[in-house]
Amino acid sequence: MSKIIVLIGAPGAGKGTQARLLEERRGIPQISTGDMFREMKNDDTPLAKEVQAIMSAGKLISDELTFQIVKNRTGREKDSYILDGFPRTAAQAEMLENLATEQNRTIQAIEVYLPSEELLKRLTGRRSCPVCGEIYNIYSKPPQQENVCDFHPATQLTHRADDNEESVSTRLATYEEKTKPLIDYYQRTERLEKVDGKGDLETIYQELEKLI
Ligand code: AMP
Repeated sequence: MSKIIVLIGAPGAGKGTQARLLEERRGIPQISTGDMFREMKNDDTPLAKEVQAIMSAGKLISDELTFQIVKNRTGREKDSYILDGFPRTAAQAEMLENLATEQNRTIQAIEVYLPSEELLKRLTGRRSCPVCGEIYNIYSKPPQQENVCDFHPATQLTHRADDNEESVSTRLATYEEKTKPLIDYYQRTERLEKVDGKGDLETIYQELEKLI
């Protein structure tokens, strides 16, 4: 039976980087709600403007809208896929249960955990390529040439608008309040595994791959 692999972890824990690696190396599609919302950024519609404002404040988009996007996007998949950044609230977790039943898939949750001091450093050091979305970190994963994408040498890396100090603290608080309880939920229902998010990319990846 194919699976829905749910990566849970605080912002900055490295879920996105690991999900991208799994997609690259194992061909399991990474579906990131954050990326999908960021893609809406340039649309000139009232909805896109609203999404943009909520994101830059570090708050959560409504459960209904987020779920619609996930449902549409995952409807195209035939096999297992990775959800990166969804579910983030109890209501979203419930919606996902129904979706998994509808799609005839099981849910496997994997927590990527990291202490909070480390999270802050990761978030403030994070840079990404606006062309391919490759994620770098000035402390732990610098590009070969300063501030330039390894794959797009003509492109300067950008700092995410919501990686500023104020929205980072809102995002971390929202994670503690709304998303962390989901870890207990998946634990209770015996679908949770854990990976230590400290250390280098490859070690974390090896640990993660063993679980999949
Ligand atoms: P991320 O890239 O996962 O850190 O997501 C960036 C931003 O997108 C979040 O801070 C939220 O504003 C929004 N977002 C992403 N996923 C969700 C979700 N599952 N529910 C609500 N908002 C989300």
